[in-house]
Amino acid sequence: MADRVSPSLIVHGGAWDIPADVHDDHLRGVRAALDAGSRVLARGGTALDAVETAVTVMEDDLTFDAGRGSFLNTDGSVEMDAAIMDGRDLAAGAVAALRNFLHPVQVARRVMEETEHILLAGEGAAVFAARMGFEPVATEALLTEREKVRLRALMADPDFRTPHAFSRWGRDPGRRPSSTDDGKRGTVGAAARDRNGDIAAATSTGGTPRKVPGRVGDAALIGCGTFADNRAGGVSCTGWGESIIRAGMARAAIDRLRTGESAQGAAEQALADLDSYIKGLGGLIVVDRSGRLAAVYNTPYMARGWWEPGMQEPRVFI
Ligand code: ASP
Repeated sequence: MADRVSPSLIVHGGAWDIPADVHDDHLRGVRAALDAGSRVLARGGTALDAVETAVTVMEDDLTFDAGRGSFLNTDGSVEMDAAIMDGRDLAAGAVAALRNFLHPVQVARRVMEETEHILLAGEGAAVFAARMGFEPVATEALLTEREKVRLRALMADPDFRTPHAFSRWGRDPGRRPSSTDDGKRGTVGAAARDRNGDIAAATSTGGTPRKVPGRVGDAALIGCGTFADNRAGGVSCTGWGESIIRAGMARAAIDRLRTGESAQGAAEQALADLDSYIKGLGGLIVVDRSGRLAAVYNTPYMARGWWEPGMQEPRVFI
């Protein structure tokens, strides 16, 4: 059957001051996600399956701050946030502060499909995941020596503030680059339009470094880190979650798409609000209802890439 519309997929692997020596890891990880997600779309699969697949691949990749490789909380625990949204009917599912599961995005999808709720948090989310048949793993399976070393350094740094994780200088010009800012991490996300013109978006993260247990960021919150609406487009955000929440950044981009803005225009306007008014840090990826794609950020780098039919291979950038 011929495609009704041309599918497209865009993914990100975090927006922050990504050190040069790990650019290749990010590009490789983003490409692997695009390869997997684009295969779903190319064989006629749904946007929902494509974004879940792309995010799952990056949750498995230690390069990223999602699933395995997540940042540690102040007490050494790992808590992850994820959300997924279906633009056909604005159905959504999310988990917050989820411990001991490898694929938060898959649990989020089950929340959407199997419950009458949108967001399950903490212990309740973990009990639900186990009930859905997901295999719990020890915290050790999620954390890496790299993150243990980072946490020790950050705990000993009285000047560290969360925005410093996203820009070498944060918003503080007096801030010196930290020797602990040399690891690999970045939230992951995807937005897609399938050949039916249906749109979906998903985001997954281990949150911010040295966060307090129980802290929930934008990734779990519909309208903040993630949104999808067939009438407008799909969005996934990354960056300093507290600023993205205050901006309601995903929904802000969607609102602009609904007034007829292109993907690029909507993304730029949503980011401008985060940047100038809130003094936030981050980026977002957008697919609009015509399948046009955009990625914008105000951090030094953002790992990102996209795929459309006819491309020899996905395009990836940092
Ligand atoms: N937005 C995520 C959070 O604040 C972190 C990130 O995007 O890197 O939890």
